[in-house]
Amino acid sequence: MSVTTRFAPSPTGHLHIGGARTAIFSWLLARHFKGKFRFRIEDTDLQRSKQEYTDSILASMQWLGLTWEGETTYQTKRMDVYSKYVDQLLASGHAYWCSCTAEEVDAMRERAKGLGLKPRYDGHCRELGLGPGEGRCVRLKCPLQGKVVFDDMVKGRISIDVAELDDMVIRRSDGTPTYNMAVVVDDHDMGITHVIRGDDHVSNTPRQILIYQALGFEVPTFGHVPMILGPDGAKLSKRHGARAVIEYQKDGLLPQALVNYLVRLGWSHGDQEIFSLEELVELFDGTHLNPSAARFDSRKLEWLNGHYMKKLPVEELARLTRPFAEDCGYGALSDERLQTLCTLFRDRARTLVELAASFAPMLKTADELEFDPACVEKQLNAEGRAHLEKLLPCFEQVVDFSPEPINEALKAYVEGQGLKFKQVAPPLRAAIVGYMGGSHLPDLMAFLGKEDSLARIRKAIALG
Ligand code: GLU
Repeated sequence: MSVTTRFAPSPTGHLHIGGARTAIFSWLLARHFKGKFRFRIEDTDLQRSKQEYTDSILASMQWLGLTWEGETTYQTKRMDVYSKYVDQLLASGHAYWCSCTAEEVDAMRERAKGLGLKPRYDGHCRELGLGPGEGRCVRLKCPLQGKVVFDDMVKGRISIDVAELDDMVIRRSDGTPTYNMAVVVDDHDMGITHVIRGDDHVSNTPRQILIYQALGFEVPTFGHVPMILGPDGAKLSKRHGARAVIEYQKDGLLPQALVNYLVRLGWSHGDQEIFSLEELVELFDGTHLNPSAARFDSRKLEWLNGHYMKKLPVEELARLTRPFAEDCGYGALSDERLQTLCTLFRDRARTLVELAASFAPMLKTADELEFDPACVEKQLNAEGRAHLEKLLPCFEQVVDFSPEPINEALKAYVEGQGLKFKQVAPPLRAAIVGYMGGSHLPDLMAFLGKEDSLARIRKAIALG
């Protein structure tokens, strides 16, 4: 099967997660069938479209790894192409000039409503044979009877009676094409075989199909993906995740986690939750798309992100964490130290922001270190401090202050006193890190060095 899909955002805002999910589905379908993925900027709304949004959408696509084939299409550069097709429809008798004013059309709609019908244009100019003229638009001559039927990839068969549609405007009186006209012409010219988009567009589809038919174009396959809802089942609010992709990027999410999460939100493969990109490309064939709206769960997204952070090679994790560490104001950090910190703290971090923030106590001096009050109460109590007092001379004797000898000293104390690690390690961790974070204690202490580690232990002892 030859497949060409596309993503066609309007640059009236940043790329949000709903749009990103549509883009990912379209991209995956193209990659699965070894087809093409195309990209189009729908910038005909001159008032609301902004270059900064186009740039931001392009940057988010790149960050997500959604590459496309061919040049980016801009609708504003194709006005004469749309015009040519409208002229073609006029010439073939599939469209006609209409001189009705907005007020007249409103009155027709009111009349229809009064009769209990759908508000619609009543076809006043349909057979008048008008030519071009000031203030005239062009309408499509829609069939008077029959149904528009299509098999949606997500929603199944959809059938609309043409009586529900009216002779839609395809060229406005100012000469610009309407949205439905431009989309059909573009999707045809770009060779699109599968249109995946949000289901806010499902009502446009029967209209677009009528334009395809009038132009004699092959109708593509459509898939309308339901909205993403908030955890409460209501419209997704900003607080619950209705945010732009760049905001997730700034929060320290990894693109592979966001891609994995968004694909699963609306598509399934049994119970599997974690998919590599290669797996997604292999498995995503446009089936198993969920027709009901999915609920956004930010905790699950963070859980997935934590998973991907653990799996990344540490060099890569450190490279990605560096800008976040810089934002924390830690100053210069060698690659080696940053990698060590990532190794020491990656297990509990769910985002790169959290990971970078968790380094803070390790990059302070013992003087600057602040103990978490809850930790002081629970771990640095009299019993905890008594252990620290006895541990101090053991660590003072360690000459080579590297993980192995530090571990030996700790072990000797624990075993020598007939204790358990879990009696000694928590107060030591509280003294060294200031809170109950980080991984293997001897590694943390070796990172700090002997002088600093001992100063921290002394400072904790002095709390008494
Ligand atoms: N430009 C439309 C939007 O951003 C998408 C239209 C389509 O995919 O057909 O909602």
